[in-house]
Amino acid sequence: MELTLNTPLSALPGVGAARARALERLGLRSVEDLLGYYPREYEDRTRRHTIASAPEGEAVCVAALAAGPPRLSRIRKGLELTKVQAVDAAGSMTVTFFNQSYIKDAIRPGESYIFYGRVEGPPGRRTMTNPVFEREDRARFTGRIMPVYPLTAGISNNLLAGLVQRCLDCAACLPESLPAGLRRDHGLAELEFAVKNIHFPADEAALELARRRLMFEELFQFACGLALLRGRRLSGRGPVLDRGSVAEFLVLLPFPPTGAQRRVMEEAAADMASGRPMNRLVQGDVGSGKTVTAAFAAWLAARSGFQSALMAPTEILAEQHARTLSGLFERAGLRVGLLTAALTAAQKRQVRAELAAGTIDLIVGTHALLSGGVEFARLGLVVTDEQHRFGVAQRAALAGKAVLEDGEGGLKPHTMVMSATPIPRTLALILYGDLDVSVMDELPPGRTPVETFVVGEDKRARMYRFVRRLVGEGRQAYVVCPAVEEGEEAAAGLKAVTAYAGELQAKVFPDLRVGLVHGRMKPRDKEAVMTAFAAGEIDVLVATTVVEVGLDVPNAALMVVENAERFGLSQLHQLRGRVGRGKHQSYCVLVSAHRGDESRARLKILAKTADGFRIAEEDLKLRGPGDFFGRRQHGLPRLKLADLAGDMSLLQEAQAAAKELLRTNPGLEGERFAPLRGRIQDLFARNQDGMN
Ligand code: ADP
Ligand code: MG
Repeated sequence: MELTLNTPLSALPGVGAARARALERLGLRSVEDLLGYYPREYEDRTRRHTIASAPEGEAVCVAALAAGPPRLSRIRKGLELTKVQAVDAAGSMTVTFFNQSYIKDAIRPGESYIFYGRVEGPPGRRTMTNPVFEREDRARFTGRIMPVYPLTAGISNNLLAGLVQRCLDCAACLPESLPAGLRRDHGLAELEFAVKNIHFPADEAALELARRRLMFEELFQFACGLALLRGRRLSGRGPVLDRGSVAEFLVLLPFPPTGAQRRVMEEAAADMASGRPMNRLVQGDVGSGKTVTAAFAAWLAARSGFQSALMAPTEILAEQHARTLSGLFERAGLRVGLLTAALTAAQKRQVRAELAAGTIDLIVGTHALLSGGVEFARLGLVVTDEQHRFGVAQRAALAGKAVLEDGEGGLKPHTMVMSATPIPRTLALILYGDLDVSVMDELPPGRTPVETFVVGEDKRARMYRFVRRLVGEGRQAYVVCPAVEEGEEAAAGLKAVTAYAGELQAKVFPDLRVGLVHGRMKPRDKEAVMTAFAAGEIDVLVATTVVEVGLDVPNAALMVVENAERFGLSQLHQLRGRVGRGKHQSYCVLVSAHRGDESRARLKILAKTADGFRIAEEDLKLRGPGDFFGRRQHGLPRLKLADLAGDMSLLQEAQAAAKELLRTNPGLEGERFAPLRGRIQDLFARNQDGMN
């Protein structure tokens, strides 16, 4: 059969309806999909030995003749052994298979096979157990570097490898997306070579070349995608806001701004007066006072007659923002509205009507703001808080929604995103390649650093006494437990947290007021608990990570984190940022039963520094980028091979190349770049991160 890139896998021999469905679960429908499905690792099956020379205990290939018929013996119910004697020129070995009765017919006496497995036992009594084997004259999967694919039920590695091998020649038809000059300049292999060798490497060197080329390609597409987003923005027009004066805004504040806040406000004001849409990331440690800068931007927009939207990742946070900002804005005669899923239908209708009528100047909400039916009279600014919780797609969706009609075409609203997840600078530059970055590297004055301790289980009683003492002094405490907030494990985790809270109340602190809040509670109930905590009606709040973001209770002076080793350092740093917000000396106790040096050393970093950027660097170094970004959190396209932080130098190279290409070919227009444009679309679409 003539295979093409579009041939459905169900047309391949050996792929029936059931297997086709299983392959589909892996996202594999066509030959092209299959070629783009890269191995997760490799097994080196290149080493060949004779039976006598095989090093004991190491996996090698041995060519040998089946000296007799396989003998099947039933040891007991559920345990069958098949034994074959295999010989080569100078030795013999017993090959044993467990519970693989089909071997009886698969191995024929007198036939030569390659066995790949571990040889055990001294010469004379050599054995091999459950080896991979195939006839020597038809060897496909031995004597070479073998790909190991991510699998699913009903699809074995051999099946998948076999299918890939059948389709490998189609690699010649894959459209090359890297311009030839670029490939030359960066020493990158051709696509056909790369695809063939990523699946079935000729040798280590070929694999390295293939990987480098494909990784570069991914990073390059990624960088091009972000650069395109940026270019689209720079070419757009934004509402021109009257710069006003920062001083006029400052009189609304109950405190003098920090130098960093003042700088960011000036930067934002300049952006929004430029005529181009602002797209600025405000990155600053927890407690650095980012909200004020957002409030300033919204105030500026309102003064020029534009509405603003502030989107927060949780209801609690949205409600808190609405409260703080209402106070501030009322003094300026401006109106703040709140739109979350917790409102009744009638309330939502009301808010929407006011938005459409333009009577609300600043609307605060969750992603409910993204839902259909929300119309603005004159939206001029979109602020996204805790950006790391949102994807590029959502960011783009809200911005896209906000196209204003002004007669001669759309005006794009200004956007500001705020993030408290410090990302190492080099990385931020790339990850947020479509944004301008402001760094808030200064905390408001008068903060005493949070004292941080790492303790083991043996200190639990002491820790409880400490909680009691602080509560006795009038303070409040958080006790955070790790729990999955979504998916199958959520129920179990929830039960554990609920039980723990119950136990704390019943046995440890019967005389204190213990509360519980978690992500699965109804927004209303969550709100009630949080409000009670903020009002000082709860002494000890047991919580999952819902308290991680943005919550502001100045009287809370103690953060206890249970099973602290399960959190990333940056996340712990964020949790710690929930305390130390008032005038009281605050503490953070990280409880970990893990005695392992490594996890202790990791946690100790937090005790040593309060610098979010340093912590981020360490986190990145220790855990690798996968964990660092928590996969779901960074909202960037998932790459197949490359590792955004691990392959930093390649990433920088790819980014420079992308910049150069886009400088000479802005927009990547024309037939020549069609394959590249297609691949960029795919990359971002794979994560529902649309490019528009
Ligand atoms: P984050 O950057 O974590 O979002 P917030 O904006 O929530 O920080 O500010 C943290 C706390 O610091 C708030 O209670 C806020 O009122 C206060 N704050 C912000 N700026 C200043 C300042 N310049 N001086 C004193 N307190 C400030
Ligand atoms: Mg905040």
